[in-house]
Amino acid sequence: MTDSSDAGRCECGAAAGPLGECVDYYHAILAEEQADPEMYRWHTVVVCAYLLQHPARAHDRHLDGQFRMLQLYLDKGLDALLHVAAHQVGRNRRGARPGYDMAPLAEYAPLLQGGSPGPFRDGFCGLPFRDGSLVCDGYPAYGRRVGSIAAATVESWRNLTT
Ligand SMILES: [Zn+2]
Repeated sequence: MTDSSDAGRCECGAAAGPLGECVDYYHAILAEEQADPEMYRWHTVVVCAYLLQHPARAHDRHLDGQFRMLQLYLDKGLDALLHVAAHQVGRNRRGARPGYDMAPLAEYAPLLQGGSPGPFRDGFCGLPFRDGSLVCDGYPAYGRRVGSIAAATVESWRNLTT
């Protein structure tokens, strides 16, 4: 745990949960999903949502692609996102230009830069953690929670424009 005197408020605006701040939840997810292929299916959604809720930790030039990936996930579902994400990985491995191939993402709204739009309606500190696990009540429930965080993330960023 941190010893900072400004503990309790994360960049995203959320109060810490039992496991700590969002970053603690994020690291717990990354550690657990490494050993759990079923949980790992949501990896890209988790990373994109986390970085968009905490843009100070992200690379500015990737945020737009990450914002569009979340929109694709909400629009077309996890299998469609996994297909596009696998394509991105293969593309980067071949040494193509770094960053996202925007072709499958072109139909989605671009990200307007300009700080963080938090607080968000749903975030990482609300995830239940029981018996040392974030998927303690099954993958469908975990997937719904991650989806809710993704929806809240896109919603807040979109509201910046209106
Ligand atoms: Zn946070």
